Formats: sequence, C-alpha cells, structure tokens
Amino acid sequence: MHLDSRLAQIGTKKEKSTGAISYPVYHATAYRHPALGESTGYDYSRTANPTRDVLEEAIASLEGGDDGFACSSGMAAIQTMMGLFSQGDHLVVSLDLYGGTYRLFEQVLTGYGLSFSYVDMRDLPAVMKAIRSQTKALFVETPTNPQLQVADLRALAETARRHGLILIVDNTLMTPYLQRPLALGADIVIHSATKYLGGHNDVLAGLIVTKGEELTERMRFLHNSIGAVLAPQDAWLLMRGMKTLALRMERHQTNAEALARTLAEHPLVEKVYYPALDPEAKAVQSSQAAGFGGMLSFRVTDPGLVAPFLRSLKLISFAESLGGVESLVTYPATQTHADMPEERRRQAGVCDRLLRLSVGIEHPEDLIEDVNQALARAERILKGGGTGGIRNPASSQRQ
Ligand SMILES: *Cc1c(COP(=O)(O)O)cnc(C)c1O
Repeated sequence: MHLDSRLAQIGTKKEKSTGAISYPVYHATAYRHPALGESTGYDYSRTANPTRDVLEEAIASLEGGDDGFACSSGMAAIQTMMGLFSQGDHLVVSLDLYGGTYRLFEQVLTGYGLSFSYVDMRDLPAVMKAIRSQTKALFVETPTNPQLQVADLRALAETARRHGLILIVDNTLMTPYLQRPLALGADIVIHSATKYLGGHNDVLAGLIVTKGEELTERMRFLHNSIGAVLAPQDAWLLMRGMKTLALRMERHQTNAEALARTLAEHPLVEKVYYPALDPEAKAVQSSQAAGFGGMLSFRVTDPGLVAPFLRSLKLISFAESLGGVESLVTYPATQTHADMPEERRRQAGVCDRLLRLSVGIEHPEDLIEDVNQALARAERILKGGGTGGIRNPASSQRQ
C-alpha cells in the first residue's frame, strides 16, 4: 500500500471493542493482570502503552524497520539510542550537525567517555580516515541543516558494513515519505517528530526505528530502562499530525522550490542552499529520496540586512523550529547553532549572513511577496543607517 494511504489510516483499525476510528488515549499507567502469570500485554506505561504502541508500530512500518520507540523529544530519542555505546567508544558524525545533537555529544556524552569526530559525510575518504579501532557507528544527517548538504546513504552504508559499524541516520528533515534510510542500508533511524511528522508546531516528540533483532531488543531494553518515553496524549497528537504528512510534504517542497528559485535571483542574496539548485546534491538526492524537502537556507550580501529583514517580515515568523504548516525563519548563528564554538560554526558554514527558512504550506505567492518586501525594506533601513532590529543578538534564546 502507498505511504499516503498508510499515513491516513494510522490507528483506524486498531480499536476492536468500539471500532473507534481515532485511536483512544490510554492515560492509565497500570494494567490489571487476569491472574498470576497472565498479562493483557500491558503492565506499566513506561514499558508499553496502548496509544504509544499504535504510533510505534506505524513509524516502524513507515520506515520499514522492525520496531519503533517513541520518546519525549528528538533529543530524548538520541540520548536513549546513545545508550548502545559505552566508555571508550568513538563515533564518526556529520560535521554540519543539528546544534542540540552537537551539544549533547560534546557537553554531555564526552563526560561518559565517548568521543566524536566531525566529518563532511559527502567526503568518503575523509569518513574512512576518521574510522579508528574504537569506532562503533556513523551518525549521519542528510540533507544537513542548515547547509542542506546531501550525503550518499548507500555508500555510507557500504562503508559502515565493511568496518562493522552501525549506521544511524537522523531522518528528521526528510521523513519516511521522502526518504527511507533503512532500505538504503542504515540500521537505525532517528526523528525529531516535533518537526514534519507532528507538523503543527504543537507537540514535542522523538522516534527511534531499528532494524535487526539484536539492535531492536537492545533498544527496547534502553527505552524502558532510561524511561524518556512519549506521553500518551502526545502520542495521539503526533499520530493526528502524521495522517496528513503526505499532503503537507508535497506542498512544503513545491513552496520551498519556488522560494529557492526566487531568492537565487535576488540581488541582495549571495547564495541559496537547496538541494534541487545544486547539481551534485541534486544527483545524490534524486538517487535516494523522493524529493528535496521543505527547508532552504540563504546568505544575504550584508550582515546588516539580517535584523531589519527579520523585523520586516509580515507573514513568516521569526522562530526556532521547522517542519510545521506555518513558515518560520531562523538565524542559526544565534539560535540553533549558538552552542557551537565559532570555529566549528564557520566550518559548518554558519555565518552571520545565513538565514534558514522552514517553508510552510501557505500560498507560494504570499511567501515570495513577504520575502521580497522584507528584503527591500531591509535594504532601505541599511542604506538609511538604521540598525533596524535585534539590539543584542547574543541574548537571543537558545534551543
Ligand atoms: C529538532 C531536531 C532535533 C532535536 O529534536 P527535539 O524534538 O527538538 O528534541 C534533532 N535533530 C534534528 C535534525 C532536528 O531538527
């Protein structure tokens, strides 16, 4: 069955006693046992919850994995998954990494004796060079955020297999609707379901999908032992969002492509990052995914344009996050990548002229009009010598 149909039908046939189309929210944390040694399959909600089960089964099926594990956030999913590793282990990780993941690795997990090498995953010889005898896994984002660089997942899976490593892919930006890493040879998929899967900027959630009996068993143990599980109400809200994922992703990406092409022509824009606009990224992306997604970044010609541009937007909100139906713009240097040292930030291409757009599902003409009028106004303010906005960017909130 097509993904669109499976998405729309999440949970519809699961409630046997009443036939409820929308699967109920089971708030119960404890479950009565029929007799000694007997169980309904549920005993305590951290271990398993009927509402969460429906979500976990759905994401496992959508990603083509053996089981799914719903966590209280994307970071909770990554932290839970990282329980696979122990003191002395080393991971090779995408250079252009989500800022929160970088912070968890560098400021929390190094304290537990794990170590990380950050490598441009498009550069296979560099990946191989970074692999040591203690290396246990590759952790990859593709496309990356905010530079939208595309790594070849099949080639990375082959490299991982040859060196006996686990390949972990953060599939947040693509969702299983556009990209299914497990079918390309990955072992684990991670999602910040807060983004496209939820889709409405109103639920914080993370998902893990595993392939292979041993990894799946180990993840089940970690999920229950660590306990950063998703609450039933949030599991329900996430499933409600996922039902429209196919429609939303289609609109996100046609809007993003239209906006990317408009920005690429704009005299105040130096560069646009969108996989469809870069021949190399486009070739790899087309070989492994069903589209280019709804994220784009762009570099303006002058850092003085940033603040007045953000202040002049009327439709698009200046906010952190991505993947919702509403368009949002982010300033990575002070928001998503604030916890990255300046040097590493520059390496990852995050400079003070870079803006990131999560393109929503509004009408494309309204989005283009908003960006054009805000750039024009920003230029007028810049030329007039005004500062136009964020007085102290360093005090912006961190994600
Ligand atoms: C947002 C995000 C995360 C973290 O997820 P939360 O739900 O915010 O905890 C991880 N990876 C990527 C790519 C993200 O965009």
